[in-house]
Amino acid sequence: MAKPGDLSEDEKSLFLHLNKGNDQEAVRLLSSGDVRVDCLDEHGMTPLMNAAYKGKTEMCELLLAQGADINSNNHEHQYTALMFACLSGSVDTTRVLLGAGARVNAENNLGRTAAQLGAFVGQSDCVSLINNFLSVEDLEYYTKPQGLEKEPKLSVALLPVLHKFAVSQKLSPVKIAMYLQDNLELVKNYKSLVKVMEHIVESNVKSTEMNEVLAMKIHYLAFMFKKCARWYEGLDGKDGIDGFIKFLTKGRSSDGFFLNVEDLIRQAIKEFDYPECTIFKQLVQTIAPVEKGRDPTALSVLTQSINGLRCGDFSDCCGICTENRNVKKCSACKMVGYCSVRCQKLHWQTHKKFCKKLTKEYEEQLAAKLAEEKLEEEMKNMNTQEEKPSQINGENKAVVNEKN
Ligand SMILES: [Zn+2]
Ligand SMILES: [Zn+2]
Repeated sequence: MAKPGDLSEDEKSLFLHLNKGNDQEAVRLLSSGDVRVDCLDEHGMTPLMNAAYKGKTEMCELLLAQGADINSNNHEHQYTALMFACLSGSVDTTRVLLGAGARVNAENNLGRTAAQLGAFVGQSDCVSLINNFLSVEDLEYYTKPQGLEKEPKLSVALLPVLHKFAVSQKLSPVKIAMYLQDNLELVKNYKSLVKVMEHIVESNVKSTEMNEVLAMKIHYLAFMFKKCARWYEGLDGKDGIDGFIKFLTKGRSSDGFFLNVEDLIRQAIKEFDYPECTIFKQLVQTIAPVEKGRDPTALSVLTQSINGLRCGDFSDCCGICTENRNVKKCSACKMVGYCSVRCQKLHWQTHKKFCKKLTKEYEEQLAAKLAEEKLEEEMKNMNTQEEKPSQINGENKAVVNEKN
């Protein structure tokens, strides 16, 4: 095994070129030079770690193709290539390393995983990618009959839609229901698909490479999937999935709060079969004391623990489905945003009772903000008047200096 800093001349120049970003030279050395793909610089960093830290996706792919050890942990602080990728903020590099089998649970010498390090420096996109990662291969396993099975649990045709569903980062029940409504083939096969998902949950909790976050996420999605399918079959309510969406988007009469969503998410968490898991305990401890209708909502707490700390704020998102693109505010009150006419229509039954009150609130907030700005402006003017004498002194000094 390579020793840190024990490098041939070619290996030294490989690191030099990687550091300087001379990719062509690095590629040349890798293909023809006297280099070991897992040689270590004086800090125990491999070329792969170096490329990952710089977010060089193609270089990482090349190194992996040459057999680089994805989980090398000879770094002086036990950083892995995935940790470096996550710190770099490059989602593509992170995805390539995950796809190549990077261990998500590896810890550095301070006991931090790649996702935790990424969260610390605010790389929330990489963090959520790691936490939600379920490879296509993970699902492909279920497309082959296992053990005594005559039929596989998952048909090849459903694999892409199920994978898209499982890696989605949107946890709003409304958004989930809308996705399922657009992919009815999933709903029609829900019994076998939920079994697949439950199996994934179990294997993520029970294996040595435990991933509690992924387990909780898949459990949650499976729960919502079942609910949606029950509505579709008319077992829980009328009008199929449309009825389910209406049920979810009906606000409480006293304050418009989405009580059904809150209750459903709390129930989903409660039904997690592995109460010994840290994520379960944390969710329960955070959510249980909150009075329903106050912040944080169960959706925001759950989204934070699954997708990363910066993802639980929906203030600029659609008030119905939490979509963050194309959000337009209600033209009357400007207090609620919608991503589509559909979402606005869904909310109108509830919102029409509060729009007037919110308009007043908005006007009050606006007036307060204007008053504050005016006050700030006045303070600034006063300050600049006070500063004037010293400025004049400064100018005089400059003149004096010039004369000298
Ligand atoms: Zn929406
Ligand atoms: Zn309004």
